[in-house]
This record gives sequence, structure tokens and C-alpha cells, in this order.
Amino acid sequence: TVVVVGSANVDLVVDVPRHPAGGETILGGDLRRTPGGKGANQAVAAARAGGADTTFVGALGRDESAELLLTSLGAARVRTDTVDRIDAPTGTALITVSPDGENAIVVAPGANSHVRVGAAQARRIAAADVVLAQLEIPLDTVIAAARERRDGALFVLNAAPSRELPEALWEQVDVLVVNEHEAADLAGPGSGAATPEDLAAALLARVPAVVVTLGAAGSLVARRGGEPVRVPAAVVAAVDTTGAGDTYCGVLAAALAQSGPAGLARAARLAGAAGALAVTRPGAQDAVPHAADVVALAEE
Ligand code: ADP
Repeated sequence: TVVVVGSANVDLVVDVPRHPAGGETILGGDLRRTPGGKGANQAVAAARAGGADTTFVGALGRDESAELLLTSLGAARVRTDTVDRIDAPTGTALITVSPDGENAIVVAPGANSHVRVGAAQARRIAAADVVLAQLEIPLDTVIAAARERRDGALFVLNAAPSRELPEALWEQVDVLVVNEHEAADLAGPGSGAATPEDLAAALLARVPAVVVTLGAAGSLVARRGGEPVRVPAAVVAAVDTTGAGDTYCGVLAAALAQSGPAGLARAARLAGAAGALAVTRPGAQDAVPHAADVVALAEE
């Protein structure tokens, strides 16, 4: 089983001719209101695209946005009995998209600032094979979640969005998943690392396994004491890259729950296939593919 600890947001998306400057008002297209947030996206991916028994640990308000997220999580069969309902607005992302596909995003974290590991959450984490977290919730909560896992369970950290990690978090990580920007931020300017292979090697000084996602170029998997492995991506027509990284992380966690750390390369192939399918559809959770399609593409 997989437990995903993280954020849930409603994404409010508007297409704009260009992003507004300070003090400026711009007319955009129709408003889209879709379920998102890295934690909820990854939970939907682990369950629907990865086929794992998945629990989401997060926090939602008592508003309509919360209902939208619970409906999306429920449709993917994610367990939500460990989601706290609190007196804060559900997390919201304000997103404008320009014609070249560039996003400008403001996140109001709201309830996500109050995600915590209480007794019920700790019990579910202690029963999991993989605990997956990101960095859109308090770092203390991420550390607490990692510490509740049982011996032999894997803690997978998707270090996004980029921020500095305290030692107490570094020492918990079994598998670090980052894109190239996040990898460079964590390796630090002093590392001199240029290629994904260099970045992964630098990060292996801190954690036993690293996955660097490379967009249309696929991903790179590296474990201490082994040779790094490149996993190419399928060639697809990209429509909307939102949620590709989250889909990748969720499916990676689901596959690792089955195989353990020895199956990291195969997990990355499944995760890459799921990420490729996700970019062919608009939205975040709405774009997460089904497990059968993921397996079919991974085995092509
Ligand atoms: P992030 O959005 O976090 O930067 P990436 O863009 O690296 O993450 O995407 C995550 C994964 O999704 C990639 O490793 C790749 O396997 C898959 N993917 C992303 N974009 C594409 C694409 N254009 N074509 C095929 N696969 C893609």
C-alpha cells in the first residue's frame, strides 16, 4: 500500500493573451476549475495509474473546493478518511496560461499549511510499503510522516517545489525524485554538476537512490554502487504538461510498493509511460491515465 502525504488545491485556470503586469487588468478566456495540488495529484496517480491501494493524508477546508477534491480522489478510489477538514480555505492555485503555454501561478496554501500527522494518519503510515511526500506542506509534517514508517518501508521524497532540506529530512529519504531544476538547486552551485548523470552522482552523496525526470527526454535512475540508467520517454503529442511530474511520482511509488527498491528501473519505466500519457490530456488529476494503458505503453 501507498500513503501520499501532501497538498490538495483547486486550480483556477484562465487562458490569457499575455500575463498581466503590475496594476494591469486583462480579459481572459473562460474559467476552468479543476482538482490539483501535488499531493492529491500524486495520490490519484498512485491509485488510478499505478493500481495501488492508496491513502491520502492532507487537509481541506469546509468549502465547495473541498468537495471537488474529495470527488476527484474518490473517483480514483483513493482513501480519504485521513484527510482533516479544518476552518481554513481549501488550497487554491490561481493560474494564467499564455498562448505559448507558459503558466504564471500564485498559490494560496490555506488548509495545506495545517497538514499534520495525528494518531489516525500515523497508523495508516505505519502499515504502508511506501510513503510519498512533496514540499507544499510544512517540512515538520513531512519529517514526521517519514519517521512513522515501519522498518523496510520506503520513504520517497519528491523535492518540489524547490526549497532547502534540513538534515533531519535528508537522513530519512530512501528515493529522491527531482526534475533537473530541483536537482541543480539541491546539488548546489558548488557541485559543478552539469549533466543529469553528474547531478544524480552529486545527490547520491546524500541519499541512496535518485530519480531525475527529464521531460520529453524521459528520466534517469541512479542507485548507490550501481551505474545510472536512462529511461527514454515515449514520443507523444504534448497538449498540457501540468501534472506529468506528479503522475510520474505517484506511479513510481505504486510500483515500488510492489517491487521494493530493487525494482526501481522498472518502476521508472511505468512512471515514464504514465507521465507521457498525462501530457496528452489537459488538467492535472483529470489527465491521469488508467493502469492498463500505462502497462501497455511501458511494454511497447
Ligand atoms: P516536471 O513537470 O516535474 O518538471 P517532467 O517534465 O520531467 O516533470 O515530467 C515527468 C515525466 O513525465 C518525465 O520524466 C517523462 O517520463 C514524462 N514526460 C513529461 N513530458 C513528456 C513529453 N513531452 N513526452 C513524453 N514524456 C513526457
